[in-house]
Amino acid sequence: MTVPRLEIELKKIGHNVKELRDLFGYKGISVTAVTKAVLGSPEIANALVKGGISSIGDSRIANISKMRKAGIKAQFILIRTPMVSEAADVVRYADISLNSEISVMKQLSKYAVEQGKNHKVVLMVEMGDLREGIMPSDLEKTVEETIHLESISLVGIGTNLACYGGIKPNEEKMQGLSSIANDIQNRYGIKLEIVSGGNSANYEWFMTTDDIGLINNLCIGEAILLGCDTLHRREIPNLYTNTFTLIGEVIELKIKPSVPYGEVCKMLLAMCPSLRIRVI
Ligand SMILES: *Cc1c(COP(=O)(O)O)cnc(C)c1O
Repeated sequence: MTVPRLEIELKKIGHNVKELRDLFGYKGISVTAVTKAVLGSPEIANALVKGGISSIGDSRIANISKMRKAGIKAQFILIRTPMVSEAADVVRYADISLNSEISVMKQLSKYAVEQGKNHKVVLMVEMGDLREGIMPSDLEKTVEETIHLESISLVGIGTNLACYGGIKPNEEKMQGLSSIANDIQNRYGIKLEIVSGGNSANYEWFMTTDDIGLINNLCIGEAILLGCDTLHRREIPNLYTNTFTLIGEVIELKIKPSVPYGEVCKMLLAMCPSLRIRVI
């Protein structure tokens, strides 16, 4: 077999996803499995579905269309606000998309009408991480505009912390989101099917909270694929962390100084601190 290569153990990923689905499901939280880190690999998506997942999220529409065309049977969610230029494909391939701009949703509406489809949207709420999301003070107006869009259904709200700004998804943030969901439901007399609290970094909150409030969904990528809690980079009990193995040949083995010496110019190889390579 060729080297270097990445060996991926689908059985271990299947095990991780089952464990996490049971763990979160125990308190009433569904898991949307996120496949962006594996470019929507149909083999991995298949392992996720076999592990009991019925909802798959990806940040690229090309990955979603790849999984659909490969015959993966799941609900597909585009887990970021769509580019206007890809709105037609978002309606074509994704069942749900996460949104924060009314101008984008108007385009989704236009294509949904054109394609004779109903497209579901989850509105993202800014809770402090500053990645994407509607400021809570503007939410009411956006909800109102969204529910009047033709062929668009508002099915939920969500937030995604510990992403861009490194803000922790703690009790206060989750209760804040719950209370926003509650206000929307009461004010508009609608039921939000999805109240999505975040990602793998929500593990600690989940394990320590007495009350999940209205949070009923998490979009989980890394915890499934690598078995770790992304907030502390700790292993999650009962999960495999050795699902991916990079196999390479050792081509030079010498003891050398730990710092380069000589006149310093441009560095060719920037050290990537997050890259861990295990030599086996
Ligand atoms: C990538 C992503 C996730 C998954 O994050 P992990 O840390 O891999 O669990 C969840 N939600 C959104 C919006 C994302 O972009």
